[in-house]
Amino acid sequence: MASLPFRELLGDVSEHSPDDGSGPEVDKSRVQKFVCIRCGVSYPGDLAIDSRGCEKCRETAPANLRPVYPAHQPHPFDGATAQGSLWRFAHMLPCAAEEAVTLGEGQTPLLAAPRIGAFVGVPNLVIKDEGRNPTWSHKDRFSTVAVSIARARGAKIVATASSGNAGASLAAYAARAGLKCIVTTFAGSAGAMLSQIRKYGATVVPLVSKMDRWSLLAQAADRYDWFIASPYHGPVVGSHPLGIEGYKTIAYEIVEQSGGTAPDWCVLPVCYGDALSGVWAGFCELFAQGAIARLPRLVAAEVHGSLAAALASGADALPERPMAFESLAVSIGTPRSTFQALKALRDSCGHAVPVGNQGLVAMQEQLARDEGIFAELASVTPLIAISTLRRQRIIAPTDRVVAVVTASGLKDLDRSVTPDRNDRIFQTTQDAWRWLDANEPRLAS
Ligand SMILES: [Zn+2]
Repeated sequence: MASLPFRELLGDVSEHSPDDGSGPEVDKSRVQKFVCIRCGVSYPGDLAIDSRGCEKCRETAPANLRPVYPAHQPHPFDGATAQGSLWRFAHMLPCAAEEAVTLGEGQTPLLAAPRIGAFVGVPNLVIKDEGRNPTWSHKDRFSTVAVSIARARGAKIVATASSGNAGASLAAYAARAGLKCIVTTFAGSAGAMLSQIRKYGATVVPLVSKMDRWSLLAQAADRYDWFIASPYHGPVVGSHPLGIEGYKTIAYEIVEQSGGTAPDWCVLPVCYGDALSGVWAGFCELFAQGAIARLPRLVAAEVHGSLAAALASGADALPERPMAFESLAVSIGTPRSTFQALKALRDSCGHAVPVGNQGLVAMQEQLARDEGIFAELASVTPLIAISTLRRQRIIAPTDRVVAVVTASGLKDLDRSVTPDRNDRIFQTTQDAWRWLDANEPRLAS
């Protein structure tokens, strides 16, 4: 769908003077302070983010912080430029466009998906295909902001504990910025995403203990000036709050690509809920500014059910759930999500749907065959969640639903493809035609 001109969407809007954001002090000029998303207590704008979130909430229900901008909050669409990346919304982000480390991220297509939509019970389904980002996942929206901030602050090293999409994305943006990237992982990690991380030139540090991945980063934060993008303390509150701001642009783009309207539902795969939280913040900004008439309800497709349990109990501290099985959806396989994800679900009257392995590969293939969209296994969990909520009559058949496909299916081929599947080999074209005539009878029609 083509983007509509933002001013046409909004009619008469007040003029916003864009911050010139020049110089390295981008944070101070843009981020006035941080506030706790749970208790609302304020922290200074130059706070050193240490991955533990709000100090006051730490003992009871660990919660992430979010940046607060100067009193005059600009309109997301007013001041947006035609630039070919999410930095067209730089006036809504904690870093100026001139400081951006970019690979042309964002501006992913929003695609009508009527065939897979009919299959899951909502013909009015659209897919936001985040697999089109530079490193083939939505994490690029985070990394572009995080690495831009890191470079503007003079950091020489960025680091993360992710050996998946987040690590691959951070490694790419670090390479783009000319910064060193350190990725801590646990011994035995493998797969396309780890290879991708190495190809971008990041230093991979495998550790026997999973917890030591975090300990090493915590030690680096104490001793050196590394910019650490991922969580490195538990219970996890989420990733770096300034990077999360990048995910707001998913909401801006969905509304812009939908002619200025919000969907009834927006469904995402959720691990620690950085994207869920950022998308919700984006929709809330649009609503507060009058750009959309109502807010969508959010759905988290999760694996082990910590969000569903917390929604049911009403508690703010998320329970750690037993990992009863090894999920194929490796990108979201945490036993405990975060308060930031829970809050986005509660505030939007949303739902969390635990999704097991059953039917995951089949749904991936159905999406690819029906719509030409090849998604990572974690990225098809929203389709299963939608199907579940339709059966429960929570989503209505006429609702407009956005499923966010977060990453490409090339990311986890090692989990989605059966290794012993052999293609038939033909000695001659006659042999091939004989087989095609027998097995694909409609070819010659
Ligand atoms: Zn707090």
